[in-house]
This record gives sequence, structure tokens and C-alpha cells, in this order.
Amino acid sequence: MPSRPRSLAIIGSGPAGYTAGLYAARAELAPVLFEGSVTAGGALMTTPTVENFPGQPHGITGPDLMGNMRKQAQRFGCEMVREDVTRLELTGRTKQLETGDDGVYTFDAVILATGATHKHLGLPDEERLTGSGVSTCATCDGAFYRDRPVAVVGGGDSALEEALFLSRFATSVTLIHRRGSLRGSKVMQARVLAHPKITIRWNTEVTGLLGEDHLEAIAIRDDTDGRTAQLVVSGLFIAIGRVPNSELVRGQLPLDDDGYVIVEHPTTATGVPGVFACGDLVDRRYRQAITAAGSGCAAALDAEHYLSALRQPAVPNASENDPPGPPPVGARADHSAPTITAELVDETSLADTMLTSTVPVLVDFWAENCAPCQLMHPVLDHIARRYQDRLRVVKINVDSNREAARNYAITTAPTLKLFVAGKVARTIVGATPASKLATELEPFLG
Ligand SMILES: Cc1cc2nc3c(=O)[nH]c(=O)nc-3n(C[C@H](O)[C@H](O)[C@H](O)COP(=O)(O)OP(=O)(O)OC[C@H]3O[C@@H](n4cnc5c(N)ncnc54)[C@H](O)[C@@H]3O)c2cc1C
Repeated sequence: MPSRPRSLAIIGSGPAGYTAGLYAARAELAPVLFEGSVTAGGALMTTPTVENFPGQPHGITGPDLMGNMRKQAQRFGCEMVREDVTRLELTGRTKQLETGDDGVYTFDAVILATGATHKHLGLPDEERLTGSGVSTCATCDGAFYRDRPVAVVGGGDSALEEALFLSRFATSVTLIHRRGSLRGSKVMQARVLAHPKITIRWNTEVTGLLGEDHLEAIAIRDDTDGRTAQLVVSGLFIAIGRVPNSELVRGQLPLDDDGYVIVEHPTTATGVPGVFACGDLVDRRYRQAITAAGSGCAAALDAEHYLSALRQPAVPNASENDPPGPPPVGARADHSAPTITAELVDETSLADTMLTSTVPVLVDFWAENCAPCQLMHPVLDHIARRYQDRLRVVKINVDSNREAARNYAITTAPTLKLFVAGKVARTIVGATPASKLATELEPFLG
């Protein structure tokens, strides 16, 4: 049977999770941190030296850094549970969580810090040589390859960035790409193609990793003619993509096209009140221990704010006309907050928008007590940011703008209507993932 709700669960024990644990414990929220059964400590547990974490002038091993973070959070009372969370139920005020050992827990708030997993090549010696020549992070490990030859696998922006970064240290950088053209941005492509230290091996795959204690060479195959060769390199940087560990919350929280949890920047609030997300799970850009730790701190502060608002006693004799107090983070009481980029409109301003907009207008007809509508708010902010010059995104509350709802024959919320030149071009009903929405909208955007 589920126990009575505890205050705060933190899922994930990387820099984001442990930092959230530290801050939440010091704030006396009695957090319970689910560390994962075999992955406790997170991505840095396989890293021999971390040189760029502030406050460590001589560097520190990944396991020592994570061990210190764990101890520091425990010192203030953060409870550690070395189990995988296998199921989450996030809707509703009380969040339910199940673990691999059949534990069932309930919480008032949850911080998600489950990180992201790098895609691997799937080669037999890859795991053995990871941290000994094979890496997925040039920013982290590049400086270890000063005056040595290295290779990068991949053809997207990350691979190009890694190649350019490594060119500062390495004697040579070979970019190995299994296609005949690069996928990265034109600017990055131009820089890579013009760089004297970088050579590209087109239509080529890495088929083997050679070396006893450390990588010494890689086996490659040219897919156009099947020829094989060995390339002497000390480092191989794999940049073929990352998968955010968001499977647990798929269908419950808004995710972007690649599965990253969408948060209301600059906060860590997700589409569901009381649920916060931080670290590499939300971050496709910086992906560093220190940025993950920073966002873990932000998540704990956001959760603290949310929980203290939840525990405020109801104000006696409060009238409907009283001005509302500030909403707890993630409670989404005020949709005109500056962090939300889709605009809140009423009947009059909606009509004005239709008349004056020079680009298509996407209107979200949403209702106050509708959970799928809440899920759509960050999705729409994401869409507004993504198509900022090609689409105007507005939201109208159908509870307080009933005439607009009648005029547009809205019978369910959320309903999205895309207007092109003032006419309805598309109607989309129900909570819709960002990727699907983008596919529906794109044919109509200039
Ligand atoms: C090889 C390598 C070297 C790196 N070197 C550096 C470096 O030198 N400097 C630097 O700044 N950054 C480095 N990074 C990047 C850095 O490790 C990450 O940015 C950082 O760890 C992200 O922190 P996080 O807390 O978001 O996620 P992670 O560290 O990935 O932690 C995620 C946690 O979630 C847990 N988890 C996942 N699913 C569940 C579940 N269902 N139940 C319970 N727990 C779960 C895992 O157990 C894990 O503890 C490196 C990364 C790699 C892969």
C-alpha cells in the first residue's frame, strides 16, 4: 500500500540530482533521492579525471566528485534509495512512484534528473575502452589529447563542434562520417571543411577499436568500395547523438521532438504542476556537470517555492475579486508571465490579431481546469519560439471568453486552430506532442 505522501522525490543521482538533494535537504524538505540501481552517480562515474568542475584546482576523479556530492546531500538529511524508478504517475496533486523492488511511494512534488544517454557505436571493445581513449565529450576530455591524433564519428552539429574544439589540442582530427555529406549547419560545415587540421573520411564506418589498456587505433571501412584500413588515433570521440532518459514520463509531460523534457525557462517547471526537471534531461546545449548542478539547484528552489505555496492555509473570507497572490512555480496560475512566449489574448485582442497579423496565427482555445490544456502550454511556447518569425501563437481562455468559443464552434479543450489569411486552415484537437504539431503546421508556414 502507498504510504502517506512525502514532500519531495528526486529521481537521478548525477550532479543535477545530488545538487537538488543538497538544496532541498538544507531547506528541510526531507527529500528522498532515487539513485538508480546500477547507474548511481550518473555519467561521471566512468570519467577518470574531471578538470573543469570549479573548486577542484587539481582535478578530481568522476567517482570522487560524485561521492562527495552524495555525502554533502546526505549530511543535511537527504535520504538515498538505491533503486530504479520503474513507474511514475504525475497527474493529480499527489504523485505516485514505483521502484524496481516493488516499493510504492507518494509525494507532493517530484524533481526529474535522469540525465541523457549517449548513443554508442555498438562495437565489442567500446565499453572496455570508454574513458581510455573512447569518449563522448570533447569539451570534457579534449585537453587530454594535446599533440595527439584523434578521430570524431558523426556528421551533425555536435560532431562538427567536437572536431573544431579538438583541433585546438590534437595534431590532427579525422572526422568519420558514414554519409557523403554533412548534416550540420552551413556555417559549421564551412569552418570544418576549411580547417587545415581536420580531414573528413566520407562514407566511412568505424568497425573496430584496437588497443589493450588505451585506444591505439581504429579499424574503418569505406562503404563505397568495401576497403578496410586502420587509422592510428589516441582518442575517438563519438558524437552520433544522445537520448534523454525521458521514457518514464513520455505521455505525461510535454517533450520536444527529441524527447527532452520541456521546461519553462528560466525556471525548471514542466507542464505538470509540482513536477520539475533539470540537468541533461532538459539540456541539449551545454551538457556539463556544472550546468547540470546549477539547474539541480534551481529545481530544488522551484520545488521549495511550490511546496510552500501548497502548504499555505486557505485565506479566510477571500473574495473572488481579491487580487491573486504570486503563483507557485509550475502552478501556471498566471499565463501572462514573461517567460511564456505564446501571447494570452481575449476576444477583442484575438480579433485584432487576426486582422493585423502578417503571418499565420495559431490559436489555442484552452480551459482552466483541463489537464491536457496545461500540458499544451509549454508545447505552445516551444512552437512559438521555434517559428517565431513565421507564426504567431496566441492562447484564449474559453472559460472567460465564451463568445469566442461559440463563434469558433469549440466543443473540446484544448482545440488549436491555425488561421492563414484569416481563414481556418487546420484544426487540431487534444494534447499533441511538439513534433506532431510541427509536422501539422509546417506545410502552412512560409
Ligand atoms: C564520459 C563522459 C565524460 C564527461 N566528462 C565531463 C567533464 O569532465 N566535465 C563536465 O563538466 N562534464 C562531463 N561530462 C558531462 C556530464 O557528465 C553530464 O553533463 C552530467 O553528468 C549531467 O548530469 P545529470 O545529473 O543531468 O545526469 P547524469 O549524470 O547522467 O545522471 C543521471 C542519473 O539519473 C539516474 N536515473 C536515470 N533513470 C533513472 C530511473 N529510472 N530511476 C532512478 N534513477 C535513474 C541515473 O542513475 C543517474 O544517476 C561527461 C560525460 C561523459 C559521458
